[in-house]
Amino acid sequence: EGTDVTPARKHRVVSKGSDIPCPVDKFQELAERYRMAPRLLANLREHNYKHPTGVQAHGMPILLEGRDLAAISPTGTGKTLAYLLPIFSSLGAPIASLNDTGSGVRALVLAPTRELAHQIHNECLKLASGRKWRLVLFNKATASTLRDKVVRDKVDVIISTPLRLVAAIQEGNLELNNVRHLILDEADRLLDNEFIVQVQEVVAACTHPDVHKAVFSATLPAGVEKLAMGMLRNPIRIVVGLKDT
Ligand code: ADP
Ligand code: MG
Repeated sequence: EGTDVTPARKHRVVSKGSDIPCPVDKFQELAERYRMAPRLLANLREHNYKHPTGVQAHGMPILLEGRDLAAISPTGTGKTLAYLLPIFSSLGAPIASLNDTGSGVRALVLAPTRELAHQIHNECLKLASGRKWRLVLFNKATASTLRDKVVRDKVDVIISTPLRLVAAIQEGNLELNNVRHLILDEADRLLDNEFIVQVQEVVAACTHPDVHKAVFSATLPAGVEKLAMGMLRNPIRIVVGLKDT
């Protein structure tokens, strides 16, 4: 598992935007440059993630510097970790361990299908091991536990499809006004006609002035890209291709 992924040196990455941070060669550099917690790096080693892929090498520094990002990278190149690691690093510590009553969901990952949301949750669990992160795969059961405001005020990361999330927002059972990290995964599908209205509603509900947004996709057709860029603030855009193809 996780060993046959193409390393960054076999990727060609084209970046566009202002003040683009340097990519990293190794995960270890993230500790040096961004004080990433040793625990997170240990969890990477534990799961045999040895070298960052292209989208990780370039994308992680961008997100860790708090920039908005549109990342286009082929399927199987590790886009999930590219955003999850910076999210965990930026959150610092689990809300449950902070001496804090909590003021709502801290990070949100949107995915077009339940299957994908489930896979993202599994990647989250790898990074989360050893600390008491509150990770919620939003479904019927977890939605019902989150009706309790005390519970939903102390959530680190929610992973959800748009439909169920919008329903919860509309019913007054979820607030997203404390979300600092918003990710649209498989953004080409999230921003097509099937989901666009719901996605825009979710984005609009993330009202915190310090919300950092990023979209990830294997492809981003022109019309969809325009929509995506319109949601982002001074974004950097990276496009990853495989060399010799
Ligand atoms: P994408 O979203 O780009 O299609 P995924 O995030 O689903 O790709 O990752 C594909 C596979 O590669 C997963 O099994 C993941 O655990 C693994 N993987 C991700 N990053 C690395 C890495 N740096 N080294 C080794 N395996 C990795
Ligand atoms: Mg993916």
